[in-house]
Amino acid sequence: MVFVLDKKKRPLMPCSEKRARLLLKRERAVVHRLQPFTIRLKDRLLEQSVLQPVGVKSDPGSKVTGAALVRREETVNGPVDHALHLSQIAHRGEMVHERMQKRAASRRRRRSANLRYRPPRFNNRTRSQGLLAPSLRSRVENVLAWVERYRRLAPIVFVDVETVRFDTQKIQNPEISGVEYQRGELFGYEVRGHLLEKWGRRCAYCGAEKVPLEIEHIVPKSRGGSDRVSNLSLACRPCNQAKGSRTAEEFGHAEVQAKAKPPLKDAAAVNTTRYAILDGLREMELAVRAWTGGRTKYNRVQFGIPKAHALDALCVGGMAGVSGWNVQVLEIKALGRGQRCRTNVDAHGFSRGYRMRHKTVHGFRTGDLVQAEVPHGKWAGTHVGFVAVRALGSFRVEKADGISWKRCRLLQRADGYEYRKIPSVVSSPGVNAGASNAA
Ligand SMILES: [Zn+2]
Repeated sequence: MVFVLDKKKRPLMPCSEKRARLLLKRERAVVHRLQPFTIRLKDRLLEQSVLQPVGVKSDPGSKVTGAALVRREETVNGPVDHALHLSQIAHRGEMVHERMQKRAASRRRRRSANLRYRPPRFNNRTRSQGLLAPSLRSRVENVLAWVERYRRLAPIVFVDVETVRFDTQKIQNPEISGVEYQRGELFGYEVRGHLLEKWGRRCAYCGAEKVPLEIEHIVPKSRGGSDRVSNLSLACRPCNQAKGSRTAEEFGHAEVQAKAKPPLKDAAAVNTTRYAILDGLREMELAVRAWTGGRTKYNRVQFGIPKAHALDALCVGGMAGVSGWNVQVLEIKALGRGQRCRTNVDAHGFSRGYRMRHKTVHGFRTGDLVQAEVPHGKWAGTHVGFVAVRALGSFRVEKADGISWKRCRLLQRADGYEYRKIPSVVSSPGVNAGASNAA
């Protein structure tokens, strides 16, 4: 569907693509926005139109959040949701995390740069209640920002959101129950004691006994491994150093790798942010309802709908049926709005080259959607896509590199997101924590 605004840019009911084409052709409407595609009627006011109940349904995940805009129709069996627009928002939590680590590293250098020694300060700093780590906050803000944006494009009156709590004990061992559930893996041990017992007091890789053993990460932290006990093993110093930043499998020890359990980061991220998302939505003066993940799965099976982020969002809530879900999905990728970093550094931390002082070059910014007409040369033809600017005015548009700014025409300003159309059933590379544990 195409989003429709009235003369004063207030949202009306979305219309079909065919109708939008007709309205544009007859010059009754103009294109207001390209992504998501929105038209503005030149001769219609909100007061003259009839609105039906429209809502956003959302299934927040750790890496990707599904969203569905629906028109709700009341039938004798109960409400039926007709899909108007499906999208999936790819979060940048990992990117935020990496940048924060980079910042921490450069600040750590500053502390010792001009001082020989300073004793650490008394640790009396507290975290305010409800504080979320920046990587998690970016997820919450992505979801809230898009509900707010959709509100400007469609007459939204209700929000259905899935708030699920993943049981991290049950994810590891679905059969766990009773006293074992309460105790967990480390009961009765300290970490080192547990590891010595688990790995038989010998190096997990070469089997050396009676040598100093080091605690080692099976999947290194630099590769996304966590500190959880099941990701730790014991290794002698030579093995630990030889392994470096490789996983146990890459190091040639599949049997050790088999004992490592996947991290629970994704489940933890969803658990931590669920109430922040709900609270944020409640402040928007919409009818907000929270639903369980079990209900989503029940609906999906009931209506025979495949598993995908956007379709999961469509299945959130209590209704008698859904329709119109086999359409293209708008993939919305959060990119951020650039960096404050002014200087690039080389591998040793010395400055190397300066970043541009201004974001704008000849009126263009990195991330703008442009159309470039190239008359001749290697990249002859028309290129439409997101631009990467350089100070000298030689831009890159998608794959075409070295395109003069004079050949480019602005289609839509960068807004911190990149857009792409994908089929609804193909699942995306980002893994939703819900995928492993939708029950
Ligand atoms: Zn060894």
